[in-house]
Amino acid sequence: MLKAKSGVQTGLGERIVLAAQGLGALVVIVLSVLDWTGLLSLPWFDAQAYRIILLAVAVVLLTLFVERLTVLRSIKTDLSLLRNSGHVGARYLTDSDSVLRQLQVLVDSASEKILALGAKSTAIAYLERISRKVTDGDVTYSRLLTGDHITHELHQHLLGLINLAPVNVGWNYSEKYGNLTVSEREVLLAIPTPHPNRFRGLKLVGPEQAGLFSEVFWEAFREGMNLNNPRSLEILCEECGSSTHRGEFELKEMLTKAEDAYRVPG
Ligand SMILES: [Zn+2]
Repeated sequence: MLKAKSGVQTGLGERIVLAAQGLGALVVIVLSVLDWTGLLSLPWFDAQAYRIILLAVAVVLLTLFVERLTVLRSIKTDLSLLRNSGHVGARYLTDSDSVLRQLQVLVDSASEKILALGAKSTAIAYLERISRKVTDGDVTYSRLLTGDHITHELHQHLLGLINLAPVNVGWNYSEKYGNLTVSEREVLLAIPTPHPNRFRGLKLVGPEQAGLFSEVFWEAFREGMNLNNPRSLEILCEECGSSTHRGEFELKEMLTKAEDAYRVPG
């Protein structure tokens, strides 16, 4: 009856409740042991003992009830602590289809922002969903393109968005930052496999995780170069750009030139 709850800290309130519960139970036991059946023959039984027994039973029942409530409240507090510390809400995604599905879920549920790190997406349905969200004015959208090229799908997707106010596009030659998509409440990490266009993923849910990975995103973004000119996207595109001169130095030079040309006072 007084079994301690493993891993749950017992507070003062809980201890008082447990002690009252124990005491109530003890009274019932003592009364039972003290000639329970013999009590019936005592002259004062009807008036006093009966009331005492009923009271003791009532105390036990009441304290049991309060104790259960206290335990429930304590479990709830622990759960919310766990949720906020990010120990729950992680889901491993075993194949590309689930990753793509979850990317769309992330985009659909975003109501403030979408941060995306990566340049090799060919998932048109996912990219179109982002475009719709941005043009509907629902979210801000920041994308860091990494590596020596971007896919043509991404080129086309960003072409209509790059000049919009809620959109930030950046580029970094280094691909060390991996693939990451973040909203204000979800994080999706794409994990590459040895096979081209096949990947696994990890989804994390919760504002704290989203906040932490937003920091990761902006840290990488600040290391890169801001892009505002549609011509820069063309330079980076694997289909539309030049197939030669893909070194870091050459690309930086071409992109700087394109961006400088774009900064014409208007
Ligand atoms: Zn292209």
